[in-house]
Amino acid sequence: MSTTNTNAAANCDDAEIRKFEALASRWWDPNSEFKPLHEINPLRMGFITGKTVLAGKSVVDIGCGGGILSEAMARQGANVTAIDMANASLSVARLHQLESGLQIRYEKISAEDLAAREPGSFDVVTCLEMLEHVPDPQAVVQACARLAKPGGHLFFSTINRNPKSYVFAILGAEYILNLLPRGTHEYARFIKPSELAGWTRHSSLDSGELTGMTYNLLTKRYSLGKDVDVNYMMHCTRPADGTTLT
Ligand code: SAH
Repeated sequence: MSTTNTNAAANCDDAEIRKFEALASRWWDPNSEFKPLHEINPLRMGFITGKTVLAGKSVVDIGCGGGILSEAMARQGANVTAIDMANASLSVARLHQLESGLQIRYEKISAEDLAAREPGSFDVVTCLEMLEHVPDPQAVVQACARLAKPGGHLFFSTINRNPKSYVFAILGAEYILNLLPRGTHEYARFIKPSELAGWTRHSSLDSGELTGMTYNLLTKRYSLGKDVDVNYMMHCTRPADGTTLT
């Protein structure tokens, strides 16, 4: 059953935020519910740094959670702003950066509000494993496009919607392997690559590479590859001429 409780004005689902708030203390425990994010992080970083240099760049990480990706990007020398709507996750992220000695600007603000306040400000925009948790993901994609500088790079990742992704991402991950708590993901919110590509085009972004992220049941390892049936990542760029965004 859906636990959706949509706060349409903020494009934020309060039930989703509460789910992440409840788990927040465990963001940096590599054996917790966030284990899959820790495991895929080096792969995501490899994909990002294969497309653009992070050192010295201004980066915004949308839906940053405890800062797993934000910290990795800051470690590469990026000047990172990281936003989320879950207070508890931001508190954990702020504490953890003290330990890591990194300087990240964490803030509770929506992508849409940040885009209105700081449009065209970021060389790199990352929005990973977040779109499938919001009521209107297209609006988030559009906000991401607005946040990017002309010529800027954007990275999205989410989960495909088809019978295989239902079996792997929900039945497998939540009910059989117990990699994720039950109810972490809602099938109806999964996003087909064609849908995501349509939204990026609608936001006047140029499409880049699409890559799959697959989990090998035998080796228990993730890898990047052509199979985009379940988890996937997409790279886009904002046209250098700063094409007016719709
Ligand atoms: N991007 C991080 C965390 C992914 S988990 C990573 O990949 O490591 C999804 C995150 O999205 C959670 O931290 C959750 O609080 C956040 N989120 C959900 N809805 C949001 C919204 N409307 N605005 C900003 N963040 C949101």
